[in-house]
Amino acid sequence: MSTAVNNIALIGNPNTGKTCLFNCLTGTKQRVGNWPGVTVEKKEGPLLNHNHVNIIDLPGIYSLGAHTEDELVARNFILLGQPDLVINVVDATNLQRNLYLTLQLLEMGVPVAMALNMMDEAKKNRIKINIAKLSALLGIPIIPTIARANKGIKELVQACLCKRVSSNNFSIDYGAIIETEIKNLEKTLQSAVVSGTSYPLRFIVLKLLEGDQNILKTLNVCEANSKGYEAVLATCRQSIKNLQNNFQEDLTTVFIQKRYKHIDRILQQTVSFPEAIGTYTVSDKIDKIVLNKYIGLPLFFLMMLLVFKLTFAISAPLEMGLEILFARLGDFLRSIITNKLLSSFLVEGLIGGLGAIIVFLPIILCIFLAISLLENSGYMARGAYLMDRFMRKLGLEGKAIIPLVIGFGCNVPAILSTRTLQTTRDKMTTVLIIPLMSCGARLPVYALFVAAFFKQHQGLVLFSLYLLGIILAIIMAKIFKRFLFPGEAFPLLLELPPYRLPSLKDTLIQMGEKSSSFFKKVGTIILCAVILAWGLSNFPWGVEYAGPDSLMGKIGALIAPIFKPLGFGTREAASALLLGIVAKEVVVSTLGVLYGTGQEGLITLISQQWIALSAYSFMVMTLIYIPCAGVIGAIKAETGSWKWAIFTILYTFALGWLVAFLVYQGGLMLGLGM
Ligand code: GDP
Ligand code: MG
Repeated sequence: MSTAVNNIALIGNPNTGKTCLFNCLTGTKQRVGNWPGVTVEKKEGPLLNHNHVNIIDLPGIYSLGAHTEDELVARNFILLGQPDLVINVVDATNLQRNLYLTLQLLEMGVPVAMALNMMDEAKKNRIKINIAKLSALLGIPIIPTIARANKGIKELVQACLCKRVSSNNFSIDYGAIIETEIKNLEKTLQSAVVSGTSYPLRFIVLKLLEGDQNILKTLNVCEANSKGYEAVLATCRQSIKNLQNNFQEDLTTVFIQKRYKHIDRILQQTVSFPEAIGTYTVSDKIDKIVLNKYIGLPLFFLMMLLVFKLTFAISAPLEMGLEILFARLGDFLRSIITNKLLSSFLVEGLIGGLGAIIVFLPIILCIFLAISLLENSGYMARGAYLMDRFMRKLGLEGKAIIPLVIGFGCNVPAILSTRTLQTTRDKMTTVLIIPLMSCGARLPVYALFVAAFFKQHQGLVLFSLYLLGIILAIIMAKIFKRFLFPGEAFPLLLELPPYRLPSLKDTLIQMGEKSSSFFKKVGTIILCAVILAWGLSNFPWGVEYAGPDSLMGKIGALIAPIFKPLGFGTREAASALLLGIVAKEVVVSTLGVLYGTGQEGLITLISQQWIALSAYSFMVMTLIYIPCAGVIGAIKAETGSWKWAIFTILYTFALGWLVAFLVYQGGLMLGLGM
């Protein structure tokens, strides 16, 4: 007899092939969204040839605790979303660690089927697994798969849909002392339960003993603050005290050890490893070099530099090509549309806006190709491991180095790539400091002012700006960590997966996902910014573009005094900075329009009308103040709310103003104001 299975959740440790399996199961018909309330990405899609079945890809986790956002999302989905079936994706070469999660699923009492993945690697490593016996011991169907080669998928689907996978009464023997307390607490809980719960009381009791009191509220097992609720908590406290007196170690450690003992007992009966363990695998050999004390870090930086150079070398000409294409398209439209207002709106507003979105495409594709290759090959984990000690001093995890480095090229993909960070605190802090990384679009602004004032010290001036950004980022990271996202640092929970050849299909799917989510979530915000800027600069209709009579000119003149203490309190500078929010390089073209001249003339004019100190202060402001519309959109997309996007706008503006103020006024005091 088969029950209707409508929701199947995939769960497993990171790097076990979940994404790969998900792609096999759904084809590419997937929807990507965020879990409500949190920023972890959610992927779901209909099962191939069985459209009524929905597959949900949960984040990769090691246990069902509540340490990281990923764990919380996965746990709550299983507890509250109540999938009809959970497919536990397990790496056959790493059973010991993988089974820890399996045991937790079984203790929860949810129906589980296991996809024993990476069977090819297990075979290569001469690991022999008695699948029938393992299946009998765990009481669940186990289907061997090789997700990358699309093998075993049909059997897996069949097992999930046809055979009735039911929840079972799996339990681990925790030993007499703990079992007594479990029985005791179970009894108290039983009398407190208001409505029936579909979870085994034993599971809830275990969670309580492990110090997770939220479970009562999460599952709504008994009414909060009721008599029964208080009784359960009191008994629980007593039980924990009793147990703590019995064991030398922390109770959580005791539970973990008991589970691993159980796993070892199972493995002894079902798995045989090759005898000679002394030989090095290829991965070990590569790691000897890559993780070497002396050359590890330099090699990592070299790798980052290479990736960085390569992605920008490839994307720059593509970007240029797209820009030309859009300019041609604009020219063409201008030539066939006679109505001035309409053609201006279409060309500068709409086409300009679409162009501003599209130019991001090459860089996003290239960067996510690089990230996907680094991640799937296994090198990213090494880089994170190498950088961890250093980054931890800044209060961030090792992996955070990657988005920060990418930020020097473009802040937008940098923010989109913070998703791989482990904790919300790290992710949020990184997102908020990325705008301080001086991106490529700020360079044209620097180039203009350097050409006008700092020809001799070109390198030094540029270097000082990049360095300023980094120093501010370090300071702000400390501040944000301390005041906005306080909490314990999360220990490095990193394993070094074996090096693998990345799969082309998965890489392409990943790139496609990133770009489509960019267009959907960030694109509209950029388009709105461009159209708004067009409107402000051209209305009332007939005025000179962004000139003194335009709305933009009026706003510029109105806010110019704010910049007076910074050394550039002119309408032109204010309007240029405002329009620069659309995209930073627009600052230069706006100044050109407002001064009524091209690049060469602009350099001369600026060198006559500005002073060097104001120019430096202006560059500092350009570096720090409000990031471009793309970045604002990316922050909104990544954090899932406008709150942090608006916060970033405010804090970067305040910080930019303050630093530029210090630079200008300090410079004046030092007598540099000439
Ligand atoms: P996830 O982190 O669980 O989503 O894992 P991924 O799906 O990203 O897979 C991690 C890596 O393992 C990728 O490089 C895959 O190509 C590879 N992979 C997935 N399934 C298999 C498999 O059955 N055999 C082998 N050898 N590699 C696999
Ligand atoms: Mg994955």
